Amino acid sequence: MKNIVVLTGGVGGAKLVLGLARILPEEALTAIVNTGDDFRHLGLHISPDIDTLLYTLAGKANAAQGWGREGESWAFMAALRELGGANWFALGDGDLALHVLRSYSLTRGETLSQVTANVAARWDIATRILPMSDDPVATLLDTDSGRLEFQRYFVERRCDPRVQSILFDGAEAAVPAPGVTDAILSADAVILAPSNPFLSIDPLLAIPGLRSALTQTSAPIVAVSPLIGGKAVKGPTVRLMTDLGMVVSNESIARHYAGLIDGMVIDSDDQCDMPDIVVIKCPTLMTTLADKRRVAQAALDLAARMRS
Ligand code: GDP
Repeated sequence: MKNIVVLTGGVGGAKLVLGLARILPEEALTAIVNTGDDFRHLGLHISPDIDTLLYTLAGKANAAQGWGREGESWAFMAALRELGGANWFALGDGDLALHVLRSYSLTRGETLSQVTANVAARWDIATRILPMSDDPVATLLDTDSGRLEFQRYFVERRCDPRVQSILFDGAEAAVPAPGVTDAILSADAVILAPSNPFLSIDPLLAIPGLRSALTQTSAPIVAVSPLIGGKAVKGPTVRLMTDLGMVVSNESIARHYAGLIDGMVIDSDDQCDMPDIVVIKCPTLMTTLADKRRVAQAALDLAARMRS
């Protein structure tokens, strides 16, 4: 298989993308990335999921912390605090450089796709990293504390408010970024990373042109479940499923992607009783690079099986 497309959010998805990048030939992989988490902060345009992919594939991610850059310094935050600036969102000095460069480039008329490609080239990343769209899409959560922007819910409120519904402001009018539709239509396989289905994958599916490319492509579409033993490895996936009235199970994840996916990779000790899709098992916890390669290979094997 020569063209593999992966739809992904940030940290959980980036683990699989790294595994795929390490086993596929260079340039075989296109990652289409959620930008519903993007926001403006202190005048800067921040794209958390794109940055996580860039840092992960460039070997610059802070694995222990789970976000941001390795070997980061914090002089900017210290100075900001001293000045009484908003400090609920941590910006390391190296991270800040990327946000400043991106924001400056956008004001000069470059697109998010171009800025992302420039940084990827600078860091010798062979994987094509495409934002889902160059148009603004904002994930908003209606909660028992009112409507919250994604980062206010996720970072400032630590996912505490109870979620009633999630919407993707701007998605209806957004068009897929250059290359996104072609990549999906010419793919040999499309993989949904084990990213949060509701916050990281749904924003992509809410863009009409992207969704329709997924329904038109002849490539098999397979997902990797974000649940292991009924728990999320990290983040609010389970909390959201409960808030939204779903049973926390692989069946619920598969049903959420019904009509879209042909198969799903689940953890060895788990079950997914869904007659409409092919389910395969492997240990899906991705800690080491070997783990990431194993799960990536399982997703590719499942897709190859669906093609034959
Ligand atoms: P975010 O955008 O940074 O919040 O990250 P994602 O949405 O890409 O990933 C969050 C999801 O990844 C959570 O639901 C986790 O359960 C899942 N996840 C994280 N690490 C792993 C892993 O090692 N294996 C599997 N199967 N899922 C994982």
